[in-house]
Amino acid sequence: VHTDREKATKKAIELVRAAITRVIHHDPLEKRSVEVNPASLVIGGGIAGMSAALEIADSGKKVILVEKTAQLGGQAAKLDLTFPYMSDAAQLIQPKIKKIHAHPDIEVYLESKILDISGYVGNFKAKIATKEGKEVEVELGNIVVATGLKAFDPAVMENYGYGKLPDVVTSVEFEHMMAEGTVLTKDGCVPEHVAIVHCVGSRNSDYHEYCSRTCCMTALKFSNQLRNMLPESHVFQLYSDMRSFSKGCEEFYSRTAKSGVMFLNFEKGDLPLVREAPAGDDCRMVISMNEALSGDAIEVPADMVVLMVAQEAHEDSKQVAHLAGISSCGSDFFIEKHPKLDPVATTTDGVYIAGACAAPKDIPDAVAQGKAAAARILATIARGSVEVEVTTASVNEDLCCGCQTCVGVCPYTAVGFDEEKKVSVVNEVLCKGCGTCGSACPTGAIRSKHFTDEQILSQIEGLMELEAS
Ligand code: SF4
Ligand code: SF4
Repeated sequence: VHTDREKATKKAIELVRAAITRVIHHDPLEKRSVEVNPASLVIGGGIAGMSAALEIADSGKKVILVEKTAQLGGQAAKLDLTFPYMSDAAQLIQPKIKKIHAHPDIEVYLESKILDISGYVGNFKAKIATKEGKEVEVELGNIVVATGLKAFDPAVMENYGYGKLPDVVTSVEFEHMMAEGTVLTKDGCVPEHVAIVHCVGSRNSDYHEYCSRTCCMTALKFSNQLRNMLPESHVFQLYSDMRSFSKGCEEFYSRTAKSGVMFLNFEKGDLPLVREAPAGDDCRMVISMNEALSGDAIEVPADMVVLMVAQEAHEDSKQVAHLAGISSCGSDFFIEKHPKLDPVATTTDGVYIAGACAAPKDIPDAVAQGKAAAARILATIARGSVEVEVTTASVNEDLCCGCQTCVGVCPYTAVGFDEEKKVSVVNEVLCKGCGTCGSACPTGAIRSKHFTDEQILSQIEGLMELEAS
């Protein structure tokens, strides 16, 4: 109607009338705040979690850092060199790990697991199962979830022969060879032809539709390392699209392109096929592909095939999301409060996400997120208290029949049940006023403040009044 002056004016009058009719039923809403415990919990000891922990603890605030594996450092600790500057990963990571272990304000729990998280912003309680088999309960005001990701298993993709052909390896396995300083085939020979295949499990609607973001540059890093380590070898990059967006990466791509590496392009939906070479061939394997730039069907010789595997969420990410009261997307990565304007906060106040648990990331982005989450937490601690939602739900105990429908539907686990009175109870600090419980309650006992039946019905009546006149 906004292109029609008369209709638009009528609509404006209706909306104003509806709002005025509603106001008659308004009740005062009180602003409330809760105190903030200055201790913080960081779940995950990778580069993002470590960055968050150090940032908070260096400000003199206590941090409890829980890591499920036996050591800190996460994926970054498994790297040999980092792109695009080929710096030694250990020199970046090890000093941070040492600093954390020596820090007076960081309590580290290795090989430990979070069993339960309860409470709300400023006042959480977490139960930790430690490696000694004990259960420890800690109290804290804020939480950073930085649980990272894991590598995709390419054995499910038959065209690459992983698990069947002995010299088809994953990027993780190849990284390990690089760190050890020896690249040899399974039968102990130096490979003459090495093919590096991009997008294995990424950008593929059968596995993961997203781009894993770090594999293109890691593949270029491998090419550069191979050039130095095995200068006589032939290196092929089988790629679909080259993603080189981070600082210094496009330049890194240009340098690699001039280093005698052969780039071969395939269409996303037309994947290369790796098979054993016929007896008598000079190489161990042959890769058949339709080279998209030349339009030719070609065969690439390979003694070793490196699969740049996708990065995916951990198997237990849904469980972690449930414990922390946060949401995850279809790919099981955690969801930000706002992907552009609030990328480290979640819809649960006091719970932040950092690093690759939200989506695949390189080291600088993971560090930036860890530090951003820490900055948000330190600001909250400095204020000493946080304001909580005022338009929460409340239960009319006389009407509540105790069916607990509301307990089951609340997406923020804000409704509990009073076993003595046999009625539901809303935790007003956890409640976001979303209204889900109110629409599900069969007796109308649970209602959202500021969105009561009277207020909404009178608003509708206000609209209909003009319609009728
Ligand atoms: Fe009570 Fe309504 Fe919740 Fe059922 S849905 S427990 S009646 S408040
Ligand atoms: Fe839970 Fe939403 Fe009801 Fe609040 S309004 S108790 S958040 S369902």
